[in-house]
Parts: sequence; structure tokens; C-alpha cells
Amino acid sequence: MGRKVHPWGVPPWTVDFRPAPCALPDHVDFAIVGGGFSGLSAAAWLCRLAPGCSVLVLESASLGDGASGRTGGMALAETAAGELPGLGDVLAGYKKILRAFHIDSRLTLPGVWEIGRFAPAKRSPISWSDSGELRVVRRVPGGTVDPGKVFAGLARAAESAGARIVEHAEVRALDFSNPLPLHVRRSLRGRIQRKEIRAEQVLLATNAASLGLSSLRAAAEPKLTFALATAPLSAAQLKAIGLSSRHPFYTVDLPYLWGRLLESNGVIFGAGLVPASNGTPFGASRGVHTGKNGSQDLHRYDVRRGEAVGRLPPCASRTAGAARFSLPKKCAPSSAAILATNT
Ligand SMILES: Cc1cc2nc3c(=O)[nH]c(=O)nc-3n(C[C@H](O)[C@H](O)[C@H](O)COP(=O)(O)OP(=O)(O)OC[C@H]3O[C@@H](n4cnc5c(N)ncnc54)[C@H](O)[C@@H]3O)c2cc1C
Repeated sequence: MGRKVHPWGVPPWTVDFRPAPCALPDHVDFAIVGGGFSGLSAAAWLCRLAPGCSVLVLESASLGDGASGRTGGMALAETAAGELPGLGDVLAGYKKILRAFHIDSRLTLPGVWEIGRFAPAKRSPISWSDSGELRVVRRVPGGTVDPGKVFAGLARAAESAGARIVEHAEVRALDFSNPLPLHVRRSLRGRIQRKEIRAEQVLLATNAASLGLSSLRAAAEPKLTFALATAPLSAAQLKAIGLSSRHPFYTVDLPYLWGRLLESNGVIFGAGLVPASNGTPFGASRGVHTGKNGSQDLHRYDVRRGEAVGRLPPCASRTAGAARFSLPKKCAPSSAAILATNT
């Protein structure tokens, strides 16, 4: 489709969905700010639970440009903070949602390996070198999806149930009155349109971006993470590094390392979170502005420029060291880097 290369790099997933063109309305029942997994699934459910109500999703970039289009696609039974009250059976609930919206997610649940430098299981299929010897500690419930397919499936479900989805429509400000006026800046075929939309209810689903909209700027901090995808590995290479059984993995101690196989037999390896500002490894002094929209700040980071470039080679050599093999030449890190936001 000839899209410009995103400064965060090329994700390995394809989002096979573009919303139908539509004009910005004057008034809606529900406005959802942010078209990631959260915003799109909320839109799909709202259309189902409140038929007849108008639902509008406003996405400042292209669909899939945020974390949801760059995610690792690992599905686990607990949150990153472990079991939380009221969480219920996450994997069963996830399956139910995918079924309800007829999403071909490529969900497979073979279990996920927790790996670590201490207390390994008796017969660990892997033995990698990464700040110590990394081995399997135990297997926990979970597996992987194809995030591109989940993303497109949710968007399709929302749109076919009646939601309008508008890309390149950034909510710049929100006034707290009734109904709520949203100040929207839309970029359409090179022209800028500014519009005030009134909404009865607003859901902010912007992840770590636009924290000013929800007055969370002082309370939350955006963080970035790097991941690399290798070129496809041969069956012998997968066997040599212990990944023939295709289990995804993450470390239970630090430094953090996670990964999974792609359908192509490439492997994604990801690192931990790094701060996006204040003491940033990316050189915040180079004009990172603190204007209304935090996403503007994050989009200044370019994996091909500045200090971010220096982050990728260590990531690649860590990957190669961990797996004790040379990365295939095709795996030029900058062409496969994923840099994305998370809270
Ligand atoms: C590299 C990486 C790997 C990950 N791996 C996993 C994993 O394996 N398993 C897992 O469960 N989770 C994983 N996560 C976390 C998971 O991807 C995120 O929690 C999830 O995608 C967040 O979805 P979201 O819809 O809340 O946010 P996002 O997908 O970030 O969507 C927010 C959207 O809001 C838009 N937006 C922001 N400001 C505005 C505005 N003012 N107006 C309009 N639109 C706006 C953004 O452009 C963006 O598209 C990973 C994350 C990353 C970055």
C-alpha cells in the first residue's frame, strides 16, 4: 500500500483493515479516543450492548500505529502484576470474545515458558547465555495470537456493528461540560480540518499517550520498549536454540527478555521498558515538547536516528548471545525494530 516507514520501525504484523471513509459528525452518543485494542473492542461491545446509539472512534494516527499493532501477541492468564481480584479466567474470557466477534486470531495455547537464571527445571529445553545462564523454570498457561488479525477483526466487528472509525483525527482537547465537546484536528488528503464534536459519553483509550486529556500527566509515565524480529530460522537453528516446540517465553528475573516465534519461523526477542523522558536514553534535550498531546513526544523517537540507534545493536547482540547463533544477515535490526509505548 506504499505507506511511509514509521519512525518506530516495521512491525511484523499485517493489519488488513481500513475504515470506510466518513465525515466527522457534530454529535455522538459515545466518542472513543484511541483506536487500539481497547478503543476498538469497546466500540464493538458498545454497538452490541447499546444498539441504536452512535459510536465514533477517533484515532490520531493510522490504525495499528500504537502498541496494539506492535505488540508481542502473547496471551497470558494473569496480568503483568500477577493475579488480581476479579480477574477471573482471562484465557477463557479472551476465547469467548474472539468467538463472539468471529475473529480468526490464530490463538494457540501451548503454554508459555517462564525462563530465569536461577532455580531451573530439571530438564530445560533451552540454555542461553544472557547475564548468566537462562533456562526454563516452569511452564504457565498461555500462548500467542496474531495481533494483526485480532486488530483487524476487532475493527471489522466494530464497523460492521455500526461504529464509525476515523483515522488521523486527533483529539487535542476535551472540555468537561455536558455534552462533552471534543476538539478534533483531522488530517485528510493533506488538508487540516478542525472540528468540535459533542459527545454524551467519552472513553479515553489512548494508552500512555495524551495523558493531558485525562489529567494523568503527573501520575503516569510513558515508557518505551524495543524488540527485534529475526529473519526466518531453519528447523536446525530452532532445534539448536530449543525453540522447536514453539513455546513463547519471558524471564522471571532481570534483565528482562521475552520472545516468541512468528509463523515464518522468525523469532521476536524483546527487552524491558525504558523511560520516554527525563533521563531519556534518546536525548530529550533535542526538543521533545511537552505540549497537549503526549503522543507527539513519543513519535519524535526514531529508531533510525539519534541515541535510539545505539539501543538496537546491544539488543541484537544480546539476542544473538542468548541464542548462541549468528543472526541471519537479513535481520538488519533497524528494518525489524519495533519501538512502542506502554504504561
Ligand atoms: C513491543 C510490545 C510488546 C508487547 N507484548 C505484549 C504481549 O505479548 N502480550 C500482551 O498482553 N501485551 C503486550 N504488550 C502490551 C499491549 O500491546 C498493550 O497493552 C495494548 O496494545 C494497549 O492497547 P490500547 O488500545 O490500550 O493502546 P494502543 O494500542 O497504544 O492504542 C492507543 C491509541 O490511541 C491513539 N491516540 C493517542 N492519543 C490520541 C488522541 N489524542 N486522539 C486520538 N487518538 C489518540 C494512539 O495513536 C493509539 O493508536 C506489548 C506492548 C509492546 C509495546
